[in-house]
Amino acid sequence: MKVTRQQIIARGLANRCPNCGGRSLFREGRIFELNRACPRCGLRLEREEGFFLGAMALNYGVTCCLFLAPTALLWHYGALGNTAAIVVALAGAFLLPVLLYRSSRSWQLMLYYFFLPQHLPANRRQLSVHEDENV
Ligand SMILES: [Zn+2]
Repeated sequence: MKVTRQQIIARGLANRCPNCGGRSLFREGRIFELNRACPRCGLRLEREEGFFLGAMALNYGVTCCLFLAPTALLWHYGALGNTAAIVVALAGAFLLPVLLYRSSRSWQLMLYYFFLPQHLPANRRQLSVHEDENV
């Protein structure tokens, strides 16, 4: 395999194309617009209708587990007052998903190709000369 699972994880965490490693996931000059395909290698990034739902679930999951749950614990143990906890939780609940948008789209691609690395064009088996003759 040309692209290893470690590379897929590194590229996913760096918001890079899982196939070629280019900074080409998002349209230039646009913050929230994922390219339909990577302009460098042609990998289809929007794989199918509703593919973004996985990214949305990741985004809300990270927001809940890493932000809202700790905020609730801080409130529960008295480190945050009632008003402060409400303000922090509401602000985080709206801001964090926006801030995590690009990363969550990249994480979703990372997870998909981590489990199915053979689906990356760079990892597809090359046909040998002998097999080419039979096609
Ligand atoms: Zn690419």
